[in-house]
Formats: sequence, C-alpha cells, structure tokens
Amino acid sequence: MLNHNGKFGDHGGQYIPETLMNAVIELEEAYNHYKNDSAFNKELQDLFNDYAGRPSRLYYAAHMTQDLGGAKIYLKREDLNHTGSHKINNVLGQCLLAKKMGKTRIIAETGAGQHGVATATAAALMGMECEVFMGEEDTKRQALNVYRMRLLGAKVHPVTSGTSTLKDAVSEAMREWTKRIDDTHYLLGSVMGPHPFPMIVRDFQSVISREIKQQMTEKEGRLPDVVMACVGGGSNAMGAFYHFIEDKQVRLIGCEAAGRGIDTAETAATIATGKQGIFHGMKSYFCQDEYGQIAPVYSISAGLDYPGIGPEHAYLYDTKRAEYVAVTDDEAVHAFEYLSRIEGIIPAIESAHAVAHAMKIAPSMGKDRIIVINISGRGDKDCAAIARYRGENIYE
Ligand SMILES: *Cc1c(COP(=O)(O)O)cnc(C)c1O
Repeated sequence: MLNHNGKFGDHGGQYIPETLMNAVIELEEAYNHYKNDSAFNKELQDLFNDYAGRPSRLYYAAHMTQDLGGAKIYLKREDLNHTGSHKINNVLGQCLLAKKMGKTRIIAETGAGQHGVATATAAALMGMECEVFMGEEDTKRQALNVYRMRLLGAKVHPVTSGTSTLKDAVSEAMREWTKRIDDTHYLLGSVMGPHPFPMIVRDFQSVISREIKQQMTEKEGRLPDVVMACVGGGSNAMGAFYHFIEDKQVRLIGCEAAGRGIDTAETAATIATGKQGIFHGMKSYFCQDEYGQIAPVYSISAGLDYPGIGPEHAYLYDTKRAEYVAVTDDEAVHAFEYLSRIEGIIPAIESAHAVAHAMKIAPSMGKDRIIVINISGRGDKDCAAIARYRGENIYE
C-alpha cells in the first residue's frame, strides 16, 4: 500500500534535489485533481480506444495450451496497441496530464528507444514540443528508433556521461528538468523515479488488469490463477497485476532478465542479485557493485536492462504478494521462437521472458487452471538481434 509520504513499505519516496521538489509537488497536486475528474478520464479513455486501439485482446492460446498439456493459457495482447507495446498507455496519460497542467514541452529518457518513440508519438498527437535523452551508445545501436523519433518531430539528445546508456539518460533528463520546470513535464517511462511517478505510471498502465479482469470474467466466469509479466522497471507488470493485488488467490509472477545467468556479471535480475539502495530519486532494489555503486547490467532484451526495479514491486516482493523469477537470454530466445511458431505471434523479446516462464510452469498445472501472460509488445524490432543470436546475419 502506498502511504502518505509516497512510500511502498520501506521503498519509494522522493530522494531528489531541492530544485525538483516544487516540480514533483505540482505534478502530484495536478494528478490528484485530474485522476478524479470525469472529463479528463473520458478524454483519456477516448484516446485509449480510438487512438491506441484498446481494449487489447485477451486471446486464448489453444495451440500452446494443448502443446504444453497443462494450464489454459491466455495472452493479453498489448503488442496490438498503436506503436506496438504497452508504453502507449502511460505516454497518453502523462501527455494529457501535462497538457492540462499548461505544459508545452515534454522531455523523456529512453534506452532502446521504445519509450522515446511512444513519447514522441503522443507529443506529436497533442502538438507538444518533445526532447528525448538517449545514451550515445544506444543511439548507435538503435538508429532506426532515433530516426522514428525525429520523424515524429522530436529532438534526440545523445548522452555521453557514465556508460552512455539508459541509466545515464534518466539522470540527464532529471538534470534537464531541474533547469526548466515552468513549461516542461518529464515523462518518465516506467514505475520508477521519485513519488508520484511510480503511482502515476502504475495507474495509467492499470488499464491492462482492469481489462483482463473483465475479459476473463466474460470468457471463463472467474479470475485467472496466475498473471505473469516481464519486469524491467516494472510498468507492464504493475499494470497487469494492479487490479488483482487484493484477489489473494491470483498468483502474480514477475519475470526478470537473468541475461547470461544470475551467477554471472552479465545479468539484469534485480530481485535475484540486487540490494536495497537509493538511485534516480527512489529507494528500491538495485544491482550494485561491492562499493554500492550501480552495477552495469546486461540482457539480450534492451527493454529489461535497467539496474533497478520499481518500488511497488520491491514492496510486493517483501510482502510476498508477488513472486519474481529470473529467465535467461537462452530461455527467452527459445520462447520467442516457440510462440512465433505455435501461435503465429512474434512477441517482444522482453515479453518472451514471461512466455518462457509460463512454458516451465504450465505443464505441471491442472487443465482447469488458467494462466494469463502479458504480451507487453511485438517482436518485429527484435528479429535482427535474435537472428544474430542464432548466428545469422539477415542483412547480408
Ligand atoms: C519497455 C518495455 C518493457 C520493460 O518495461 P517495463 O516498465 O518493465 O514494462 C517490456 N516490454 C516491452 C515490449 C517494452 O517496450
């Protein structure tokens, strides 16, 4: 439960420079006002439906179910949303909120470019200025997404501090926000950062579990036994879990990226290998080195290689309401190929981490049990990397 000072148990909070305090207070006040405003909620719901293509389908994966021989498997198809992932839910919500607050400029961080592209999309739709901070290393690896953002009218700033990757892009976006608060909203991409961001992003993503609950009731007349999702910062998982938290009979499973294995240095599994710390304005679990510095993380999945986890997940873990498992690159790649073949659905390599864990647990569950896997995004973006992983170069 979120308490009054923005903490989830011992996690969360607002560990930020004084210069940002006014900005987060203004944001929290605006959000608390608009979240109960029926005109705001109607406008957002219209954007979800007409622009993003919601509600997303809850699809019964009959072939996968039959093949695994155990629990019934349903896929929540966030991959079918406009821009190809769950990220659109959060950016539409925050852009609309920023607009109501009178902001004209949006800044954002991005790792692989998925959140940057979603943000640039929403900013284009709402006629707002948009600047995206992206590690220089990532701008090279993800040149196509840099082009997409520019095409959508955004300015992309390569970040050269630290390791020139996602965590440095977050730090740079926060610095930029302190410089220009009056007309600028920082559109954070996951359930992380200082309060109220973890709450706001969760609420906008919670449309996922609201729909699952309704769709499952229509299709099966009951709640699922398991809901599972991949976890980077944790926004698609928080969205898929949220409306089930009070339904104690529903198991919630978050799937982290183990990379080459949790006993190697090349991992991004925060719950499995991290310790509590303070970074990017929040207290939570982080991958750290022996000196408590943020450790470099690795996963084949660019969307999961963040060195921390959102504070509400840390709390769900502490209180044992949710379980967290680690899935290796190898297992995820296998699941990516498996779902493509068996259901004709190419999942994002991030989402494939959740598919992989379902493949492990479904066979030993009864046929009367039900698993929902949140397919957070589509996998077209990953095909070149997976081909390379298998020793093929598709551009030759
Ligand atoms: C960004 C991304 C993720 C990871 O972010 P979360 O905040 O953990 O959801 C997962 N899947 C896809 C498809 C993404 O684009």
